[in-house]
Amino acid sequence: MKITGDQQLIKKMNKSIVLDTIRQRQPLSRADISAGIGLNKATVSSLVSELIDSRLVTEIGPGESSGGRKPTLLLFNKQAGFAIGVDIRVSDLLAVLVDLEGSVIREKSVPLTDFTPENVVDQIGKTIRLLSRRLPDSPYGIVGIGIGVPGLVDETSRVVSAPNLGWDNVDLAGALAAEFGGNLHIDNEANAGAIGEKLYGAGRDSQNLIYLSIGVGIGSGIIVGGALYRGTSNFSGEVGHMTVAEDGPLCRCGNRGCWETLASEKALLDRAAGIWRDHTPGLEQILDAGKRGDKQALDLLNEIGSQLGVGLANLVNILNPELIVIGNRLSLAGELFEEAMLQTIKNRSLSYHRKKTHVDFAKLGIRSTALGAASMPITAFLTDPDVSVRELS
Ligand SMILES: [Zn+2]
Repeated sequence: MKITGDQQLIKKMNKSIVLDTIRQRQPLSRADISAGIGLNKATVSSLVSELIDSRLVTEIGPGESSGGRKPTLLLFNKQAGFAIGVDIRVSDLLAVLVDLEGSVIREKSVPLTDFTPENVVDQIGKTIRLLSRRLPDSPYGIVGIGIGVPGLVDETSRVVSAPNLGWDNVDLAGALAAEFGGNLHIDNEANAGAIGEKLYGAGRDSQNLIYLSIGVGIGSGIIVGGALYRGTSNFSGEVGHMTVAEDGPLCRCGNRGCWETLASEKALLDRAAGIWRDHTPGLEQILDAGKRGDKQALDLLNEIGSQLGVGLANLVNILNPELIVIGNRLSLAGELFEEAMLQTIKNRSLSYHRKKTHVDFAKLGIRSTALGAASMPITAFLTDPDVSVRELS
């Protein structure tokens, strides 16, 4: 029988749905899948056989019987392959090797002081090669690589601007394609962080959430109806440059009074440098001082918390999210500014809007972006498992 193009597409879609059902609801039987997604048992059995042949699904011993023969249960083979996620940060590269369910197998942090694209590309290459060595035995090896960048990444994966790295118009994908192309994903770090928290962290049960990455600046990833909102050119989420004080401090973008000039880690450190004139404390020192009850440190963190609340109240009113996840460096001090932040949101947002909004801190800590970046090639691979995957040497 000749199969037409459309039939092949439908088969591929059905196979992807069957695999997704097994991943979400494992362990389960073929009959459970058939009942769950409304495909007949013969079709489900045939697709499951293909998934077992391709080693993405395994069978385990019989489950509970509902009368007749006990059914064989199916499991997703999470170690059928691995992915690598890289977070390019201002202090270092953080890279993780994960299985297909996003569990960290290995991780590596490499200090960064030279931010030239050539050096960063070189360090990324070395780190990927290091993490790819002596992988656990698997049919697919490394299925792909994802990279989070602190800057604007357009829809063609070009890094248009990354001010903290001093990058303009850098073709990061092009520089890595020869060795690591095929299933390579490059995205803004806050977008990757939002996806990481949605899939594996604080946002697992939320369909509408905002992930805030608060470090040197403030970026966000906005998830609407379960999917990332990317905007027209993939540039959505630059909430740090929302004006909150018309004549406020000058921002690196050229504008005045951007939210991140008042509420980021840099805003905190700039203010701290003005208070403790004899030395310049880092975030960790301010955090320690706050925990010891130092009044100046606590006042400073309260002030940052209030300023965070101002911008968050705007976001709550505009987007009416279910969840706001505070991530990246400043979340380390979360317990010390949380009260001031929540009080300001309460005072300044519309009551109907905030009623169902929860504010939480990133569950993946500083790994939100690296894990979200790693999830991108995994999602692409599992949507089309027939995609050709190249073994890394
Ligand atoms: Zn700005």
